[in-house]
Amino acid sequence: MAKRIGLLGGTFDPVHIGHLRSALEVADALALDELRLAPNARPPHRDTPQVSAQQRLEMVRLAVDGIPPLVVDDRELKRDKPSYTVDTLELMRAELAADDQLFLLLGWDAFCGLPSWHRWEELLQHCHILVLQRPDADSEPPDALRNLLAARSVSDPLALTGPNGNIAFVWQTPLAVSATQIRQLLASGKSVRFLVPDAVLAYIDAHGLYRASN
Ligand code: ATP
Repeated sequence: MAKRIGLLGGTFDPVHIGHLRSALEVADALALDELRLAPNARPPHRDTPQVSAQQRLEMVRLAVDGIPPLVVDDRELKRDKPSYTVDTLELMRAELAADDQLFLLLGWDAFCGLPSWHRWEELLQHCHILVLQRPDADSEPPDALRNLLAARSVSDPLALTGPNGNIAFVWQTPLAVSATQIRQLLASGKSVRFLVPDAVLAYIDAHGLYRASN
């Protein structure tokens, strides 16, 4: 039987309940067999000082441990430079059966930025795109995406058939949490309990991550 695999990329600096809850809701709604959280490699100048890629990865690993179908995918960090999403999808696709379904999860903002992505027009050759949209949003897509949406979007994400090629919107209310907010709280010595899983909090504390003294 064809598998249904999702991919959620991000910096996860650090991973938080906004990412996890959203990922779990999509995985449930779409009955995914696996939803891979893939931390991105970043150019060194964009890394948070003293929080390494390995540490971001380890926090995602701790966050998803024992929470199927969420899993961690470390392939982008195995290379030492940022990789393009299209390359990641190509590699994932090569490991899957021809009829397995691959879903790339993108927030609306990321989706609107697609036309600036490397080989973006090839993305749908490898996957379907799930655009995570807020129920209260009334955003207009950029012109460059209008034709694509007209040609490729289907209204019901559960109606996506075949391994790749279509776009669907998944409506969800995101939790008002961001990694930026978490870094700021920690830098000012405040607690982030309940904003990240306890295991991630313990890791942050044990390694003194994001504290002002770092
Ligand atoms: P930062 O504050 O550092 O920009 P972030 O919290 O937005 O980070 P990212 O690692 O950039 O986290 O996000 C990875 C993915 O998770 C992106 O697609 C982003 O849109 C999504 N995401 C981030 N925060 C939330 C949230 N609270 N709810 C749902 N999705 C989220």
